[in-house]
Order: sequence, then structure tokens, then C-alpha cells
Amino acid sequence: MKSKVAVIPCDSYDQGKVSEAIEKGIALLGGWECFARKEEKLLLKPNLLNRAEANKAVTTHPSVFEAAARGLRKSGYEQISYGDSPGHPGSVEKTAEVCGVKTIADSLDIPLADFSHGKTVEYTRNRITRRYELCQGVLDSDAIINLCKMKTHQLERITGAVKNLFGCVYGLNKGAAHAKYPDAESFAQMLVDLNLLLKARLHIMDAVVAMEGNGPASGNPVKMGLILISSDPVALDATFCRLVDLDPKLVPTVYYGEVFGLGHWKEEEIEILGIDSLDDYKKLDFDVSRERSSHGKWAVFGKLKALTRKPVIVNSRCIRCGACVAACPVEEKAVFFPEKGKGSTEGKPVPVYDYRKCIRCYCCQEMCPEKAIVVKRKLL
Ligand code: SF4
Ligand code: SF4
Repeated sequence: MKSKVAVIPCDSYDQGKVSEAIEKGIALLGGWECFARKEEKLLLKPNLLNRAEANKAVTTHPSVFEAAARGLRKSGYEQISYGDSPGHPGSVEKTAEVCGVKTIADSLDIPLADFSHGKTVEYTRNRITRRYELCQGVLDSDAIINLCKMKTHQLERITGAVKNLFGCVYGLNKGAAHAKYPDAESFAQMLVDLNLLLKARLHIMDAVVAMEGNGPASGNPVKMGLILISSDPVALDATFCRLVDLDPKLVPTVYYGEVFGLGHWKEEEIEILGIDSLDDYKKLDFDVSRERSSHGKWAVFGKLKALTRKPVIVNSRCIRCGACVAACPVEEKAVFFPEKGKGSTEGKPVPVYDYRKCIRCYCCQEMCPEKAIVVKRKLL
């Protein structure tokens, strides 16, 4: 059976328009009740990557959160909570507040789930990863509704439905996962396994304004004017790829999503609902990596450190906050503040890299609040 993806035009974050688009997409897919029973405890999982205001396109826009929450409430769902485990250290609540989601949640009486505690979960049926430290709020829920954001990602090319569930992993364990699965291939396999464990019921992608370029936190907002909805996260991400002229097979989470049986990415296995043709909504100049690469044993060439792209600090933008150093999952830190005098400017020095230790996870680039880290080819 084909996977269905609803692609609904929505040209602004006007609350009425977003609600109308989401309701239309849900209706095309059969209604909310096709995905969850009224008595179940639902967890809304927006992308709350860091403390960024809604117009920065880093996080799921609050109007998308509000539309989904109101739609569920209107359909009789009482037990709804929300949460995410942001990359940014500190309170989830504060992050949700800055992103604009907390105000909406409070007004709808939707509590923040417990993302401040974690618990180890074993899942022996997975192919690669059989143990996860999950947030308690995830374990307390019966069903996840994934509210993801359309963005670029330096490790996996894109972050959409599959990658957004990484925020269900508790706190610092996300950094440890980067250290354990240091390349795009193995990290994608871990993410697909996580999706197979969590079995989110529905994925709603905020693509009204997406992020291109140096994503997922330092790129540029770009208008796509769409909301995408599907119960198949692989089909949803593959549709994202086609809309931005990226071969879905190049995206490891999409490729392994099919290999591991999570969903479908091939065009003939996906039914697009809501529009006549994706061609009318494509953004061919969307800034995303379209470099060719391989999977499986041939991917070994892409893992050679000398050939992979490196994070580089633009000194003039750096405010010496140390977020990159804190985010680095390598035990002895591959990015660090040098001793005064070595590569330092006046006052506190700009961090420097030891590329021999760097595993190219790009967590530093993801967490830099000043867009001071770019990822590019650079000889060692
Ligand atoms: S996170 Fe960015 S701004 Fe902060 S020290 Fe690192 S490079 Fe500089
Ligand atoms: S320096 Fe940056 S890219 Fe390299 S391992 Fe640390 S966080 Fe990852």
C-alpha cells in the first residue's frame, strides 16, 4: 500500500490559515481518530532545538503547535502534553517560552511533559541500537504527534520527521549518541531504530518558512508556503527532498528508513494528497547539500576524515560563549579554548579545533548562538 502525504499550501503563519491547512490535511488522511484513540495520552513533540524566536525558523512555529493542539482538542482529545529535549543545556520550559510555544500551551491548559528525567529502555528488535535513554514524558505517553520543522542539517543533509524524534532522547545522552555513532550513516541508522521504537502516530511538518543553508540553527529562513502531514516519516522526508530538488536516496535517514522497514521513499510508493503536482511548489535553488555520496560499504570513502567537511569558526562573529565547547561530545574536546597567547586574540580567546579528534558531528555548529560556525571543506 502506498504511503500518503498531504501537502497543503499555507502562505503565512496567520493562525486561521495554519489551522485551516492542518485540518484540511488531517481530513484528507481520514481524520485525527485514524491516528489516536480519544482515551490515549498524546505527546506533542515540536522542534525546540534552542532558545530561538519563532521568526528565526529554528523551531516549530507556535501557530503550527496551536493549530495541532486546537484541532485535537476540538476532536475530543483531553489528555495532551508537550515537550522536547533541546540541544541547549538548561530548562526545557525556558526554551519553550522563548520559542513561543509555552504561552500557547499554557493558554490551552496543555502541561509540559517530564523531559527533565530519563529512563533506560531496551528494545531488542532493533537492528543497530537496542538501548536508549528516553525522557520520562515520552514514556508516560501513549502516542506521539511529531511536529517537525523543514530544515537543512550538516550531518544528515536535512532534518525533518525522522530526525526530530531525537529530541525524545534524554539530555546529555544525545551527545553520547553522536560520539557512539560518529558518521552520517551510523547516526541515521540509530535515528531510524529510534523511530521504530517510538512509533510516532503522525508527523506534521512546518514548511511555511523553512531553513536553508547552514542549518539546523544557523541557516537562513526561506518561504516554502506549505504544511506536510503523513503517518510515514520516511515518505514525509522524501517529499521534503523532492520539493527542494534533493535526491531522497542521498539522505541517510531516508535511505535507511526504507532499508529498516520504517517507511517508503520511492515516488511510486507515495501518494501526494492536497495538490495536483509537487512541481508547482518546488524550490529548485533551495540551499542544501546535493553532493553525491554512497551508502553501505561504499560509504567508507565519505567517512575519511580528510575528505569530510569541517566546522570552522568565523572569529569576527564569535562572542566566546563556549556553547560549542560544551556541546562537543568528544571526551577530551575537539573544540576548546586555547591557553592565552596560543591563537588567541585580545581578552578571552576564540575556541580552536583539533581536527584529529573531531568526529564531524557538527554539534558545535548546531549549538552556536551567533552563527559563527560554518561547515566547509578545508584541508587539515
Ligand atoms: S558557540 Fe559560537 S559564539 Fe560561542 S564560543 Fe563557540 S563559536 Fe564562539
Ligand atoms: S568539534 Fe564540533 S564537529 Fe568536532 S566533534 Fe566536537 S562538536 Fe563534533
